[in-house]
Amino acid sequence: MQETPQAFQRIVPCPACKGDSLYAPRNPYRPFCSARCQGLDLGAWASEAFRMEASNMGNDTEEL
Ligand SMILES: [Zn+2]
Repeated sequence: MQETPQAFQRIVPCPACKGDSLYAPRNPYRPFCSARCQGLDLGAWASEAFRMEASNMGNDTEEL
């Protein structure tokens, strides 16, 4: 018995993790499978690393 009609959705390989990704309007991260994979491709690792570094370094002084 089919529980999901293949009208508006299909399974595609996630570009990030190569896993199954739901390519459908209900998946805002398509063609990625999740926000995490989408973030990886968008370079969220950079911003996250920057944020960690900033937090680690401390933001007491900001000279321009
Ligand atoms: Zn993925």
